[in-house]
Amino acid sequence: MNLSREQMLAEMGITPIWRLRELGAPAPADEAVATPQPAEPPAPAAIASSAAPVAVDALEWPELAARVAGCKACGLCEQRKQAVLGVGDLHPDWLFIGEGPGAEEDVKGEPFVGQAGKLLDAMLAAIDLERGRNVYIANAVKCRPPGNRTPEAEEMAACWPYLKRQIALIRPKLIVLLGRAALQAVLYEERALGASRGKTFEYRDGELVVPVIVTYHPAYLLRNLPDKAKAWEDLCFARRLMREQQAAGMDLPLSPA
Ligand code: URA
Ligand code: SF4
Repeated sequence: MNLSREQMLAEMGITPIWRLRELGAPAPADEAVATPQPAEPPAPAAIASSAAPVAVDALEWPELAARVAGCKACGLCEQRKQAVLGVGDLHPDWLFIGEGPGAEEDVKGEPFVGQAGKLLDAMLAAIDLERGRNVYIANAVKCRPPGNRTPEAEEMAACWPYLKRQIALIRPKLIVLLGRAALQAVLYEERALGASRGKTFEYRDGELVVPVIVTYHPAYLLRNLPDKAKAWEDLCFARRLMREQQAAGMDLPLSPA
């Protein structure tokens, strides 16, 4: 997409009242892209006997993709055209998590390619991000719920090992949950989305600890245009948090905000 940032903000229906605060240190915008990817250690289970199925927790990306493609762990497998694992940089700072594939995603095999996806791309662009570049996009469920209904709790629970493994492989610096279903899937948080905005949660898995924030799902924003301004606030919040994470990772002192 070749729109300027101002056009992106216009696309989001946002007057940029909030300007991103630049920190003293230059942002290492391309760092994650330029950094050579570390070699993955071999999965212990891969060395073990091939008789027992390998636990999802031990799968590397190719095996994980194959496992998801053939998964029949919940009823959503019945009407899918294909499972949609996710898309993007495999070693990004940012991980965005939505709800589940819609009709277009089901056909294309990529998350967020329909109308909501266009808005998500605009949201990413508003904070200088781009699909596939230092960003990975996944969903709470990998198969399309019929009629684009919200996935049920049991379906999200059945699909959780895959998302959990994605997070463990990616080790993002920040997770942005898009909408209530993602909030429920990742943080077991049943509260309404609005009550969870503006807070930093923690995702923990063993020694992995990742800050998590929530914002509105782009499909919701398409139906509730006034809330786009709130989503813009959330994105600014996310951006600030990411700057802090990046500075901490590089042991850089933060200049006063
Ligand atoms: N909505 C989602 O939550 N995910 C997609 O991939 C598309 C629409
Ligand atoms: Fe398997 Fe997840 Fe698809 Fe259900 S939604 S069939 S758990 S991949």
